[in-house]
Amino acid sequence: KEVLLEVKNLKKYFKVDKGIIRRNIKYVKAVDDISFKIYKGETLGLVGESGCGKSTTGRTIIRLYDVTDGEVIFDGAEIGQMSEHELKPFRKRIQMIFQDPYASLNTRMTVSDIIGEPLDIHGLASGQDRQMKIFELLERVGLSKMHASRYPHEFSGGQRQRIGIARALAVDPDFIICDEPISALDVSIQAQVVNMLEDLQNEFGLTYLFIAHDLSMVKHISDRIGVMYLGKMAEIAESNALYEKPLHPYTQALLSAIPIPDPEVTRAKQRIILEGDVPSPINPPSGCRFRTRCIYAFDKCKEIEPELKEVEPEHFVACHLMDEKV
Ligand code: SF4
Ligand code: MG
Repeated sequence: KEVLLEVKNLKKYFKVDKGIIRRNIKYVKAVDDISFKIYKGETLGLVGESGCGKSTTGRTIIRLYDVTDGEVIFDGAEIGQMSEHELKPFRKRIQMIFQDPYASLNTRMTVSDIIGEPLDIHGLASGQDRQMKIFELLERVGLSKMHASRYPHEFSGGQRQRIGIARALAVDPDFIICDEPISALDVSIQAQVVNMLEDLQNEFGLTYLFIAHDLSMVKHISDRIGVMYLGKMAEIAESNALYEKPLHPYTQALLSAIPIPDPEVTRAKQRIILEGDVPSPINPPSGCRFRTRCIYAFDKCKEIEPELKEVEPEHFVACHLMDEKV
């Protein structure tokens, strides 16, 4: 398996308090030292409750945010510290699809101009070629050239997401960060968009980072899944392993929140209810960040932060309960 993207010890902190006195400056540790790889052609799902840092991770990889610390290695090149000029060729190769396609589409531009804009920015097509490319892209995402002269408000949520996908595809990228692309859509539309993303992946050899707040949303599309909690990676595993045999107590809790239609299965799995709120990422708990909500927490969890370790092939877990397994 070939690695397309590697994130090493990535940190993204946001300053909260612009205090004049130095010691008053506080940081939201949105992403706090995470490492993972994405292989060429796969989909890595990234899940966690809101505020866990999953979107910030996506936005930092694509350099919408500066990297506070750590490395972002894309196809062998460290892009985390690159200048805007150096980044230009990578901007074409890495694209993003957003949760709210309406907010991310310029409402005063026609669909044709929205999809054509990245072609112009990267000087990829002009005139007749540009027009043809736009029509092709519209058809590829299930719309038609009749839609080219219309404006975003004339479309449904699902259609707008298709426009966003067409725009992302315009520059012929290798890697697409899908930031909750189906969360705002009707359930009936979600599957259509997921199926389309999978078809496009197969056709164009795309690699995806697919961000969602809910494990049920990433199940079908992901080859592997990473679970984040309070800026940390709690567990990463192949999708089947994660669903069949979740090892981190947080993943177990997330999974037990998904209704299972078969009562036999429900009985086999202990139902764990997640109690309390996610603690503040400004002052996260010492040791294991999940300890304030973990039903298995013990002394060590307060003092020592568990490292993400490979406890089974391709199955990484950050939890002291795994100690005897390693
Ligand atoms: Fe729970 Fe401790 Fe494991 Fe954290 S390290 S998930 S608190 S058992
Ligand atoms: Mg796939």
